[in-house]
Amino acid sequence: MGTLFVISGPSGVGKGTLVKLLLEEDSSLALSVSCTTRQPRAGEREGKEYFFLSKEEFLRRRDENGFLEWDEHFGNFYGTPKPFVLEMLKERSVILEIDVRGAMQVREALKGSGISPVLIMIAPPNEETLIDRLAGRASESEEELKTRLDRARYELSKSVDYDYLLVNDELDAAKNRLKDIIETEKSKRRL
Ligand code: 5GP
Repeated sequence: MGTLFVISGPSGVGKGTLVKLLLEEDSSLALSVSCTTRQPRAGEREGKEYFFLSKEEFLRRRDENGFLEWDEHFGNFYGTPKPFVLEMLKERSVILEIDVRGAMQVREALKGSGISPVLIMIAPPNEETLIDRLAGRASESEEELKTRLDRARYELSKSVDYDYLLVNDELDAAKNRLKDIIETEKSKRRL
């Protein structure tokens, strides 16, 4: 039985890069695949980037408790499929890369199931770095930047609800600390 890791962090913090490196180095880890009702983009494959569902099918599964968490973004539904994750966990440890709200839903959904997810928040070393990274991302207006920054501050304020806070100061060092957390948690569960 694997361990379930939930990784969150504001956009621009580099969590996608960290997770990608981790998956490349550790084949006992797998990334969950979410369901969505949006149309596939060019190059996206069913079951790889997402499982693409009709709205009716998504809502049916949601009402049958088929998601560990779900949310609506830009008029489309997104969710983490419960049976898929539970099945993967039989063989490997699984990473969910989701926001704070989703992470809290997952923890709630698994209460009493015998699976205790490990919640890891990735944080920038300081606010200046976050602003630089957010600003460097796209040609955004001051207002958009402020919205993203407020969102980032909100997410980071929820670190207290997480098991670990990992500061992404230097990529390689942060990746190694993340690996340590994962190994520690896996071995705790083997005891
Ligand atoms: P996109 O359509 O660009 O792939 O994703 C749009 C948004 O949906 C992103 O903010 C992404 O993080 C979010 N998202 C993707 N999968 C899930 C999921 O399984 N659950 C939740 N709550 N959000 C998701």
